[in-house]
Amino acid sequence: RDNAPSLLDLIRPEARGAPESGIVEVANYGRGRQGLIPLWVGEGDLPTPGFIVDAAKASLDAGETFYTWQRGIPDLRETIARYMTGVYGPLFGKPYDPERFYVSIGGMHALQMALRMVAGAGDEVLVPSPAWPNFVGALGVSGATPVEVPMTLDPARAKGGWFLDIDRLADAVTPRTRVIVVNSPANPTGWTATRSELEAILALARRHGLWIVADEIYGRFVYEGDRAPSFHDIMDERDRILFVQTLSKNWAMTGWRVGWLECDPALGQTVENLMQYSASGVATFVQRAAAAAIAGGESFIALQKDKARQSRDILCPTLAATGRVRFAEPAGAFYLFFSVEGEPDTRRLALRLIDEANVGLAPGTAFGAGGESYMRLCFARNPADIAEAARRLALALGR
Ligand code: PLP
Repeated sequence: RDNAPSLLDLIRPEARGAPESGIVEVANYGRGRQGLIPLWVGEGDLPTPGFIVDAAKASLDAGETFYTWQRGIPDLRETIARYMTGVYGPLFGKPYDPERFYVSIGGMHALQMALRMVAGAGDEVLVPSPAWPNFVGALGVSGATPVEVPMTLDPARAKGGWFLDIDRLADAVTPRTRVIVVNSPANPTGWTATRSELEAILALARRHGLWIVADEIYGRFVYEGDRAPSFHDIMDERDRILFVQTLSKNWAMTGWRVGWLECDPALGQTVENLMQYSASGVATFVQRAAAAAIAGGESFIALQKDKARQSRDILCPTLAATGRVRFAEPAGAFYLFFSVEGEPDTRRLALRLIDEANVGLAPGTAFGAGGESYMRLCFARNPADIAEAARRLALALGR
C-alpha cells in the first residue's frame, strides 16, 4: 500500500483547479486574533437588510420547500428585467426580456456556466490582470487555458489609473482564442472602463468572432455617477456577450449564494440544462429574498456606496501621507490596490501587518500577472473601522 499512487494523482487534474489562494494562507494566519480588522475578503460589514430576510422567512412559512424552475422563478426573472431596464435603459430599443436572465448560485456559478458554454480544453481565454483569482481558477476547472494580459498602472492618466492597453490585448489573440473576460469595475484594481474602452474591446471581439464574458458586478459601485459604463450601452443583437451578476455585493447577500447569468434567450435551453445537471436549481426562499432585494433595495445600495466613498476618502490620504505607499485612487468597486516602496514580498508583508498592525490584507500574489508587488484592501466597511485600520497601517508602514 505504501507504493500505491496517492488519490490526488488519480483524480482529473482539472478538478483541482488553481492552487490554493494566497489570501487563504494569510486569513488562516490572522483569523481569530483579538481586535484584528479583516480587510482581506471582498465583502461589506452590513448584515442583509431585514426586509430581504423577511421575504425568505415568508417563503418558508408558506411552504415553498419543493423543487422549482431550473431557470429561476418567473417573479425573480421579471424583477431582474425591470431592474435592468430601470438602471440601464432599454436594450435593443425595448424593455429587457425576462428570458435573458437565468438565476444562479451566486456570481461564481454564473461564471462557471458561462465558461462551460464557450471555453473548453484547447481554447484560450484572455484575462486582463491583475484579476479576481476565480477567473483563472474557474478556467482551470473548465480545462481552457487562461492567457493573462497584464494591465499597466499609467501615471500619465488623469488619476494615475490602471489601464488596459487594447493593442496588448489584440496582440494576445491567437487562432485558439475564444473569449475575453472583462471585469469592470475591476477587483482588485478598481479599473473602470470608459465607454470608448468598452467599444474598443467589443470591436476586437467582433473582428475575431470572440465571446465576451462580462463581469459587471461592481457596476453600481462607482464614485462618479450612478453606474459604470456597460456593454449594455453599446452592444447590438449580433454580439456574443454573457453577463455574470450577483446579489452578493449590492444587496449584502454574500452568504445567500444567488446571482444570475444574462445571455441571449436563444441559449435558454442550454443554460437550463447546465443548471439541471449541475445544481438542479436555486432554493425558492433564496430567490424570493433576491426578488425582494432587487425590487426594494435602491436606498440600501445608495447607503452602502456612500459609506464606501467616505471610507475610501479617509483611507487614501492617510496611506499617501506615509510617502511609501503608491496607488491609483479606485474609480469603482471597493478595493484599494497599493504597493509599498521597498516591500516587494507582499506575502511576507501581509503576515507582518497582521502581527504589527492587526490588520488583515490580501497579498497581490493572489491576483496574477502584474499584481505580485501590490496589496489589496477591501474598504467596504464603516468609516470608523477604516480610519482605525488606516492609522495602524500608516504607523506600521512608516517604520
Ligand atoms: N466577480 C467578481 C469580480 C468578484 O469580486 C466576485 C466576488 O468577490 C464575484 C464575481 C462573485 O461573487 P459571488 O460568487 O459571491 O456572487
